[in-house]
Amino acid sequence: MNKGDYQKETMCVHSSYQSVDHKDSLAVPLYQTSTFTFESAEQGARRFAGEEEGGIYSRLGNPTVAVLEEQIAVLEHGGGALAFGSGMAAVSAILVHLTKSGDHILCTRGIYGCTFGLLTILKEKYAIEHDLKKLTTEEEIEASIKPNTVCIYIETPINPTMEIVDIELVVRVAKKHGIKVVVDNTFSSPYLQTPLDLGVDFVVHSATKYINGHGDVIAGLLVGKNKDEVNQIRKTMQKDYGGIISPFDAWLIIRGIKTMHIRMDRHSKNAEQILIFLKSSSIIEHIYYPFDKENPQYEIAKKQMSAGGGLISFTVKGGLQNAQKLLNELKLIKIAVSLGDAETLIQHPSTMTHSGVPEKERLEMGISDGLLRLSVGLENANDIIHDLQQALAKI
Ligand SMILES: *Cc1c(COP(=O)(O)O)cnc(C)c1O
Repeated sequence: MNKGDYQKETMCVHSSYQSVDHKDSLAVPLYQTSTFTFESAEQGARRFAGEEEGGIYSRLGNPTVAVLEEQIAVLEHGGGALAFGSGMAAVSAILVHLTKSGDHILCTRGIYGCTFGLLTILKEKYAIEHDLKKLTTEEEIEASIKPNTVCIYIETPINPTMEIVDIELVVRVAKKHGIKVVVDNTFSSPYLQTPLDLGVDFVVHSATKYINGHGDVIAGLLVGKNKDEVNQIRKTMQKDYGGIISPFDAWLIIRGIKTMHIRMDRHSKNAEQILIFLKSSSIIEHIYYPFDKENPQYEIAKKQMSAGGGLISFTVKGGLQNAQKLLNELKLIKIAVSLGDAETLIQHPSTMTHSGVPEKERLEMGISDGLLRLSVGLENANDIIHDLQQALAKI
């Protein structure tokens, strides 16, 4: 099936899987094998020489994993994709691929904690520098680019404050300088946002979140505009660095993607109802949601996202004490990090996901002690609202 032939909902269900290649099985078969056998010495030699297609060893390629890789490439409108054992393995693969000692990476100010950890390793061990900037205006982006900048790495919406980065603007400035742009698209999923269409070179995902959607896998995906470059990364960052996905996890994600469109629609719809409820509460101070009409970045969000997604952050009056009390009073909503699952999850960034960030930087990022991040699940919205309501009534 070719990309562009069908709408995105149809592509979630069908992917590019061909049942004739797999004994007519409707469901994608699970090739849970470490290696593949050769009919002869000559065939083994041909496969290693790249003269004949077929399996060699699962780190070099696996038919179940290949289905997932082709499907995510189609959904993100890319030329090719690679699957990894975690989102961080995908992030490491692209950043190590794009940089060498002495280079500079420009990043958005808010960035996933372990991506920040990776940047620190790159700096300390390999002298690859980075800067974290807001990147909201053309002037600021221009002023932040250095002669040795090779890559702009952005997250949008930014975790957990849901700030939006204007992808088109960043791409326009980056192209002038021949700099590659990478977007971590985890918070939106390819169903709500396709950065490659806006000129971005690479998209990374923690497939652990919305793409798998069922809270039972850790995995990462990397999609590139240019197929040849993706294949080059396959031969280095996937084969030799080795952070590959297991066939079973790939199989679960393929299964998850079949309902991604329905899930994302429902996450977004539930979030919109919860937004209305949170606005009516006198204990809530600030609410951060991309598709909130009062959000000053609403127009940018609408330009690049088709819906607001399932993540809402908000601050409660009374700081740390009330934030923790609220969590402890919840009955249906689970206290957990991660996001994008069927269950509604809530976490407290300043003592959990962002506890490693020094207080000054944390406050600059807008992460106060009263901030909570809600990953709205697939339950009935009224049940989620009632749980929040009864807990808020106790603080
Ligand atoms: C979770 C997450 C990651 C890391 O992914 P893992 O699958 O946990 O390795 C990277 N970026 C964002 C935005 C995330 O939410």
